[in-house]
Formats: sequence, C-alpha cells, structure tokens
Amino acid sequence: MKITPVEDLFTVFNQTAALLQEELGISFLEALAETGENIFQQSVLQEEISELTLRRLRKSYQALNIQDYTVEEIRKSFQLAILKGMKESVQPNHQMTPDSIGLLIGYLVNKFVTKSSFLLFDPAVGTGNLLTTVMNQQAGKNVEGIGIDIDDLLIKLAYVNANLQQHPIQLFNQDSLEPLFIELADAVVSDLPVGYYPNDVRAADYHLKADKGHSYAHHLFIEQSMKYTKAGGYLFFLIPNGLFESVEAPKLHQYLQDHAYIQAILQLPMTMFRHENAAKSILILQKKEEGLKAPKQVLLVNLPSLSKGTAVESVLQKIDGWIAENK
Ligand code: SAM
Repeated sequence: MKITPVEDLFTVFNQTAALLQEELGISFLEALAETGENIFQQSVLQEEISELTLRRLRKSYQALNIQDYTVEEIRKSFQLAILKGMKESVQPNHQMTPDSIGLLIGYLVNKFVTKSSFLLFDPAVGTGNLLTTVMNQQAGKNVEGIGIDIDDLLIKLAYVNANLQQHPIQLFNQDSLEPLFIELADAVVSDLPVGYYPNDVRAADYHLKADKGHSYAHHLFIEQSMKYTKAGGYLFFLIPNGLFESVEAPKLHQYLQDHAYIQAILQLPMTMFRHENAAKSILILQKKEEGLKAPKQVLLVNLPSLSKGTAVESVLQKIDGWIAENK
C-alpha cells in the first residue's frame, strides 16, 4: 500500500520524538516539540544525548525534506503526533480543535473577512491547530496571526507548528484574561475554554463578571476578544450550546446587544460529540462600528452530520446566499 505524505511525515515526528522521549526522560509531547524545533532549525539542539541517539536522529532528519510537504500535510501530520501524545498522558486542558470544525470555521472566515490582508487572533490558541487550519484556508490573502495560551507546553507546540508551516504568528504564554500587549485584530477565532475562571480579582474588571462566586471564563473570553478586535471586525467562537441559557446569560445577551451584531449561530451536529451537554455551536459576531447595520436576520443553521455530502452542500449554499444578501 502506498504511504501518503502525511503518514510519511508523521512517522518521522513519531520516531524521532520517541527517541528523544526515551533519551531525555520527558513526555512524548515535550519530545515532539523538541524534534519539531530540530527539524525547523535543521540541527540537533539537545546537548546531553548519546552518540547513538544523535546518529539516529541525524539519519532521520537528513532523509527528510520538509519543503517537499504542503502546509496542510505538515499541519495534519503534526496534529496526528500531538493526538498520540495527548492520548498517552491525558490532561483536561489538552484539547485540540478537531479538523472538521477548523475547516468549517476556515470556510466561514474566508467568506466573512474579505480584506486581502488581515490580523487573526486566537486567545486560546492551544497547539495552534485551529489557528493554522483557518490560516491555511485563506488562499490569496495575507494573514498574520496572534496566539495566546496559558499552557507552556501547548504554546511551545504552537510555536513549532507555526514555524514548520512558515506562518507569521506572534505567540504569548500568558493568561489571556490579563491585560494584553497586542495590536487590535481584524478577526478572532477561538475554541473557548469553558468553565469557571478562578481569578475573581481579575474578573472584577469585566462587565461580564458573575454577581456572585467565580465568573465564566468563556464569557470573559468573549468580552476580552471584543476588546482586542477593531471596530467592524469579526469574531468566530466555538461555544457550548447552552451559552445563552445559563443564569449569567441575560448579562451576556445585553453586552452583545450593546457592542456587537450577532451574525450567525451554527449548531454543530450532535454526532460530533460524545454526549449532548458537550455539544457546541459556532457563534459569529461583528463588533459594532459607526455606519454598520445589523444583518436583516441572524443566520441560524443546524448543521447536518458532516458525512452527509449533499445536505452539507445545501447548508453551505444557504450560508453563501445569506452572505450575498447581508454583506
Ligand atoms: N484551538 C486550540 C487547538 O486547536 O489546539 C484548542 C483550544 S482548547 C479547547 C482551550 C485552550 O484554552 C487550552 O489550550 C487552554 O490551555 C487555554 N486556556 C484556558 N484558560 C486560559 C486562560 N485563562 N488564558 C489563556 N489560555 C487559556
């Protein structure tokens, strides 16, 4: 059977990461970041390794020509290696945005953001998989990225991911709900972390803080993202389906009415999720700007299972029709 370029490159990531994992006594994901950096720098950067491992690594790297792979092949093979590492040692915040969702968000960004050059921000960038999936779909446009994540291992993987795909992305390892030192973005994409934000002192600076107890991190992320988006910019969030049903929802609703135009809510098919309360939707907002108007009607879509080709096609046509009428 013929080996695909993705399988071929995955094998290099996998084998060289396994060598470094064993040699350095680190986790597979840490070793993957190390080997990715070696491949990018075209050199073995780890100093304390045995002669045998050094020779094996060099042999694998010399046989590899990373320039021969497309950005999507690099992203997908790196993603497979990350998934392997995440399975090996499960951590609650180690969740990568699945391809099917990234591809759909990429399609939507391409349709809504028509500028030929723009700055795209992900405040919960994780491994960079969602951000680079979206960037890879903006053919013919010049897109620069900004990504922030609180997890130092994930941001390291995002850094290697961005380098290998040669994307200009500025990455920061910090709490995104602290003040940010970044330019305002033209668009935001984010698979929001859902749950309570433990820092009540910081949360007190937000309109969307809870009246009692901890605030919802996902609400604060929406407010923070709006703050760092230019007027008229678009925001694409992966949100829990119950976002507008919690006790804090009326405040969120009012905030969005005051500051944004809700463009669309696309409910993802239940088949994508293990149980109903894990199900998600894509929320699209436009930050208000003088002279802009709300869409005549919010685009509401229940997406069919993405394996149903014709049904998906007709939904995409509905989205295109809505954009033609409202944008
Ligand atoms: N889109 C990402 C990807 O493709 O890898 C996955 C995003 S994951 C669902 C949510 C991310 O939010 C996690 O990587 C987590 O570390 C990050 N996160 C949670 N709280 C945060 C905070 N306060 N500041 C910055 N990042 C945070």
